[in-house]
Amino acid sequence: LFGSGKMFLPQVVKTARVMKQAVAHLEPLMDRENAGSGARGKVLLATVKGDVHDIGKNIVGVVLGCNNYEVIDLGVMVPADRILKTARERGVDIVGLSGLITPSLNEMIHVAKEMQREGFDLPLLIGGATTSRKHTAIKIAPVYEHATVHVKDASRAAGVVGALLNADQRDAYMRENRNAQQRALAEFNRPRRPLVSQTHALARRWEFDWAQVDLPKPKFTGVRDVRDFSMAELVDFIDWGPFFHAWEFRGGYPKLLNDPQRGAAARKLFDDAQAMIREIIDRGWLRAQAVYGFFPANADGGDIAVFEDARRKAVRARLPMLRQQQKKRLDGPYLSLVDFVAPRGYEDYIGAFALTAGLGADEKTAAFKDALDDYNAILLQAVADRLAEAFAECLHAKARRDWGYGLGEALSHADLIREKYRGIRPAPGYPACPDHTEKRALFDLLRVEQETDIRLTENFAMWPAASISGWYFAHPEARYFSVGKIDADQVADYAQRKGMSIAEMERWLAPNLGYE
Ligand code: SAH
Repeated sequence: LFGSGKMFLPQVVKTARVMKQAVAHLEPLMDRENAGSGARGKVLLATVKGDVHDIGKNIVGVVLGCNNYEVIDLGVMVPADRILKTARERGVDIVGLSGLITPSLNEMIHVAKEMQREGFDLPLLIGGATTSRKHTAIKIAPVYEHATVHVKDASRAAGVVGALLNADQRDAYMRENRNAQQRALAEFNRPRRPLVSQTHALARRWEFDWAQVDLPKPKFTGVRDVRDFSMAELVDFIDWGPFFHAWEFRGGYPKLLNDPQRGAAARKLFDDAQAMIREIIDRGWLRAQAVYGFFPANADGGDIAVFEDARRKAVRARLPMLRQQQKKRLDGPYLSLVDFVAPRGYEDYIGAFALTAGLGADEKTAAFKDALDDYNAILLQAVADRLAEAFAECLHAKARRDWGYGLGEALSHADLIREKYRGIRPAPGYPACPDHTEKRALFDLLRVEQETDIRLTENFAMWPAASISGWYFAHPEARYFSVGKIDADQVADYAQRKGMSIAEMERWLAPNLGYE
C-alpha cells in the first residue's frame, strides 16, 4: 500500500481510516480464524515517560495498521515498566519508542537497559524528533544486545518492521544494521573539534559598548496574562512549512502545492487543515492561553540576574546561561545568551512568555480516535501545533510593541514568519539554551501553572503538547546559535551555579557533553 510510491502519508492515513471503519463493520461477520490470521505481527508503540508529543508515533501507528500489523499504542508519558509489562502480557513482536525533547533520549536508554535486564529479545525501534541514527548507535544499541533500529521517519516504519519480522530477511537486515552502528561508533571515537577552556571562551566572548546600545524600557514590568486569545486572529500568522514537514512532505511550502507528483495530495491536506481550523474556531474545539512579562535584569557573571524591582537590589531569579566552547577558526566569539544583556549599571530588561493553543486538543483527539478517525486525530494535533507557533509569533510582536522598539515595525506576514525583526525568543531546551530544566525558573517567574492550565512534566515537556515558552531578548544583535559541545569545566561551574550535583547536571545536558 505504501511502498508503491504513488500515495503520500496523508492519503495513507485517510485510507486507513476507511479501512478501519470497514473492518469494524465487518468484524461480527468474520469468523475467528480469518480475523486472527490477518495480522502480520504485533507492534507496541509508546511516547516515553516525561514526553507528550506523539504526532509522528500516531502516523507510524496508522502506517503499520494499514500494512496489516496489530498496533498496541500506549499513548504518551509511558514509564518503562508499563512498556515492558504490556510487551510481555500482550506477546508483542516489536517495541517502538518515540520522543520529542532531549531528556527523552535518556529515558530511551533506560527502557533499553530494562529490556536487557529483564531478558527481552524483541527488536527495539527508536523514533521521534530528538532521536538520531547516531544517538541510537552510540547510546542505545550498546546497552541492548538485540536489534535496535533508528527509524528516521514514518514512511520507513513498515519497511523496517517488515524486514525484522520476515524470517528470510531478518538476519541480513540485523547484520547490516549492526555494521552501520559499528561504523557510527568508530566515527564517534575519532578526535572531534577541540574544546577551549571556559576561561578562554569567556575571555573571547562577544562584547558590546553598552553606552552605545539602545536599551528601551518596557511599558510595564511584571506579568500579564492573555486570556481566551481569539484563534481567528492567529490564522494569518501560521507558518505552513513545518505543517507539511510533520506529514513528511518534502520540498517546501508553497512550492509543494504545485508539484506535479505531490501537489494534489498536498493541496487536499491543506484544504482539510483549513476546514478543520474553521471548525476549531466555530465550535471552540481549542482554547489558547498565555502569560508574558518583562523584568529588570542584568548580566552577572555567567547568569542573567532578574531583579525584584526597579531598584535592582534584590535578585528574584538567576538564569544561568551556557557558553560555546568548541574551538572556532577565528578563535571566537564564543557565544552565550548572557552577552545580550547589559551588565550592572545599565537599565536592561529580559522578557519571558509561555503559551498554549492546545487546551481541549487531547479530548478532541481522543474522540476522533474513538470514532476510528485517525486522520482527523492527527490533523488536529498538527493544526494545534501550528496555531501555537502562530500565537508565539503574534505574542512576540505584541511584546516588541510593549517593549517600545517594535512600535515602528512594518513587516509583512512572510517577514514576520521569517523572524526579520529585532530581538529573539529562545526556548529553553533548544540549541542556544539547551537545558530543559530552566523551564522551571521560567514557569516560576511567570507563575505559569498558577495563571494558566499549562503544566510541566517531570522531564520538562509542556502539556498541552501545543505549548511554547521562551525568553525575550531585545538586543539589536541578539541571534540564535547553538551552544554545542561543552567541557567538564563549564559543566561543573554551571552545576554549582544551579545548585545541582555534577552527575545530575550531566544527565540533563547529556547531548551537549563534549567529553566521556
Ligand atoms: N515559524 C516557525 C517558528 C518555530 S522555530 C514555526 O511555525 O514552526 C523558531 C523558534 O524556535 C524561535 O522563535 C525560537 O523560539 C526557537 N529557536 C530556534 N532556534 C533556536 C535556538 N538556537 N535556541 C533556542 N531557541 C531557538
